[in-house]
Amino acid sequence: MNNKKVRVRFAPSPTGGLHLGGVRTVLFNYLFAKHFNGDFILRIEDTDQTRFVAGAEEYIYECLNWCGLQPDESPKHGGAFAPYKQSERKTIYKKYAEQLITQGNAYYAFDTPEELDVKRKTEANFQYNLHTRMGMKNSLSLSEEETKKLLAEKTPFVVRIKIPENEEIKFTDMIRGEVKFNSNQVDDKVLLKADGMPTYHLAVVVDDYLMKISHAFRGEEWLPSAPVHILLWQYLFGIENMPQWAHLPLILKPDGNGKLSKRDGDRLGFPVFAMDWTDPKTNEKTIGFKERGFLPEAFINMLAMMGWNDGTDKEIFSLQELIDAFSMERVHKAGAKFDYEKAKWFNHEWIKKTTNYELRFTIESLLKENNITVTDLNKLEQVIELVKDRCTFLTDFVQQSSFFFKQPETIDIAAIQPKWNEQKNLFFAELIRTYELTQQWQHEVLENEFKEIAAVNEIKPGELMLPFRIMLVGGKFGPHVFNIAEILGKQETITRIKHCLHLLK
Ligand code: GLU
Repeated sequence: MNNKKVRVRFAPSPTGGLHLGGVRTVLFNYLFAKHFNGDFILRIEDTDQTRFVAGAEEYIYECLNWCGLQPDESPKHGGAFAPYKQSERKTIYKKYAEQLITQGNAYYAFDTPEELDVKRKTEANFQYNLHTRMGMKNSLSLSEEETKKLLAEKTPFVVRIKIPENEEIKFTDMIRGEVKFNSNQVDDKVLLKADGMPTYHLAVVVDDYLMKISHAFRGEEWLPSAPVHILLWQYLFGIENMPQWAHLPLILKPDGNGKLSKRDGDRLGFPVFAMDWTDPKTNEKTIGFKERGFLPEAFINMLAMMGWNDGTDKEIFSLQELIDAFSMERVHKAGAKFDYEKAKWFNHEWIKKTTNYELRFTIESLLKENNITVTDLNKLEQVIELVKDRCTFLTDFVQQSSFFFKQPETIDIAAIQPKWNEQKNLFFAELIRTYELTQQWQHEVLENEFKEIAAVNEIKPGELMLPFRIMLVGGKFGPHVFNIAEILGKQETITRIKHCLHLLK
């Protein structure tokens, strides 16, 4: 590491749902920055106005907020290098494009979109590059006078990088080691568009420089763009000032090859986005990890372990533990296959690990969304303690705990009826009488009394347990039935038994 202050950035183009690969990029940036007491910057790369999606930027803040990965600087949080939104920095980039032209590293290209279209249609795999550029309409193929004339006439133009011939372009990636490209494989990318907006390539380099970015971590899909960026660094700011790069491995489909896509999630029934995303054009809603019932701690922990470990078998890490242990050198080169079962395991572990006190706020609002008002928060904590072991998702708490707060809406009487008889009816009548007199309303006491009456009436307790459960809960689920009765309290327990006896008549 050099002595520069660590400054990293997440630089999304806000066009839709935040894919878990994107969150993992955020996470690795964040962990690295915090490990070195550095800054984590969120920069919005919205130079492609044709891809503007309403609400997508706000959605990114919400996702980062839910994950607990707050940027130190962003369009919303401000900072010394504002503005952090590229569309608000339009005037900054032009002079760098002009500098490149003056230096001979870039040129004006006047080809119209129609002319380029014709080229693409008539020449297979047409690329605007060192082999084709002299046959096109640009300041390299035209005379100086012709170029001047076109510019004076305000002919629309783009600025393209002039990729040098047969040069080796290399850099050291923190994950991959030395990466080499031959310039002949790179095309003359557009840097400045006809509308005066920079393309991603120019903007990313200029902004990383101006914002004093020390390390740039991004998804592996950006690796093919690296040679263009390296050349721009070389031409504009000096290669020695370039951030250290790391291209993070992809998150792969659980089955087959390739990057995990939203479609895989739809196909296999799991979320791929951090939070629910509704496409404003189609109104199509895609579920997120948050709404599926994941704790942010579990989501973050699971993502960290996809492509990184601390060199031991340890799997459960809090955010602070991740910050302490994280190093880029331990990030694997190979892509990690997404494993939803493992993600569920992390969530279950985190539900067990989170205190009842902390969980109660989330569960209370989840219950409220399901029209269940909790008035006694201590009781809610007792319920959470009792059922948390059975919950893989936070949403499971709704089914597992709503019957504690309101009478079950449906009661599966059909599951009791076939084996119901007068003897069982008498048993429950006696149980009511006994429970009415019970002084210590505690699960061990209730269980003993229950078993004693069963013994006197010569009925196996096992045959009575299921009806008792259904009476209290409404169905064949839930924790130990006497624990349920204890929390429900004397009056409610007796009311529910009576109600069912009535239904069974
Ligand atoms: N704007 C790019 C994206 O949408 C950023 C890539 C980079 O980090 O350089 O992911």
